[in-house]
Amino acid sequence: MARYTGPQCKLCRREGLKLYLKGDRCYTGKCGIDRRSYPPGQHGQGRKKVSEYGLQLREKQKARRFYGVLEKQFRNNYFKAARQPGVTGENLLRLLERRLDNVVHRLGLGSSRSEARQLILHGHFLVNGRKTTIGSFLVRAGDEITVREKSKESSPRIKELLERAADNTPPAWLEYDADQQKGRVVALPSRDQIDTPVKETLIVELYSK
Ligand code: SF4
Repeated sequence: MARYTGPQCKLCRREGLKLYLKGDRCYTGKCGIDRRSYPPGQHGQGRKKVSEYGLQLREKQKARRFYGVLEKQFRNNYFKAARQPGVTGENLLRLLERRLDNVVHRLGLGSSRSEARQLILHGHFLVNGRKTTIGSFLVRAGDEITVREKSKESSPRIKELLERAADNTPPAWLEYDADQQKGRVVALPSRDQIDTPVKETLIVELYSK
């Protein structure tokens, strides 16, 4: 599984906003963007006029980095979204939201999408009772997400995350039953239920060129 392994705070600083890539650290005073709120690099603090293409590119990079998706996979998602009926930009965001690593994170069972992906890869999660180890797995309405019983007993981190999930409020299209320790996809998300800070129309313009 290819993934980005470089410095994560640099990505937030490049996009000029918190992308919450480092889990708990993002909520502390150690957050890179709180400490240095300008783009990285030698010319980070210089004035820059951004072209139309530049704006579109930044928006695409922001979405890609927010969900932790590499370029090829992101592009494939775009083409898949374009083939679906409806508004392409919204379809794209919906596809990204439906990723299992995003859903696990939104349910509070991973402090970041990358932690969620790691836990999924290690086989800690079941979708409809079946072990699923692929972070990009797309959930459907009605799917149930649970933690493997063995992981609940053997992994201190999983125990900690289950306690946190009980206090977490997921978005309206997901629900979490703390007693049964079970998450459920109530329905696929509508655009107003996706709080990702991106203008998807700019991404569509970029790929439509
Ligand atoms: Fe981004 Fe701050 Fe988290 Fe670093 S600590 S990944 S800058 S939100």
